[in-house]
Amino acid sequence: MIDEATDLVREIIDLIGDDNMREGLLETPARVVKSWDHLYSGYKQNPKDVFKLFVDGKCDEMVILKDIEFYSTCEHHMIPFFGKISIGYIPNGKVIGVSKLARLVEIYARRLQVQERLVGQVADDIMKYLEPKGCMVVAEAKHLCMIARGVEKQNSVMITNAIRGNFKEQVVRDEFLKIIK
Ligand code: ZN
Repeated sequence: MIDEATDLVREIIDLIGDDNMREGLLETPARVVKSWDHLYSGYKQNPKDVFKLFVDGKCDEMVILKDIEFYSTCEHHMIPFFGKISIGYIPNGKVIGVSKLARLVEIYARRLQVQERLVGQVADDIMKYLEPKGCMVVAEAKHLCMIARGVEKQNSVMITNAIRGNFKEQVVRDEFLKIIK
């Protein structure tokens, strides 16, 4: 499996037009394949496991985790996009440790991804397992596929939202947006 993968990377290097026997490239195929373990580790993890340890609580105030860093890979170009995600939810009896929310982001980010789906998957899992009154997930990211391919959008940031439950009410959404600003 590893051999097959490194052979494929060697083929790609060849197609790009470089020389696989060049000293700087000798170990590259193995390194590339190794990096996939981390970049695509999300496939091997089950988001459900993140929610195993939630706590029952009386809290019914908005819980917010702001600016979770993430690194992901654009599924259209297999080039990185990266930025920050903020999550807010209003508990309905169950709360979860903030580090678990960061882990949830990691599980979905470490896959071939589009930013729109990333926020949707995080929001849907929060709704499914934590059953809050509502939640909202906002991602801001820079896409190297835009920046590096010369689309000349060097500083553009893409923002995507997923809004569920009572975050569809403007007062709730405004409170969240004001806090994460
Ligand atoms: Zn792309």
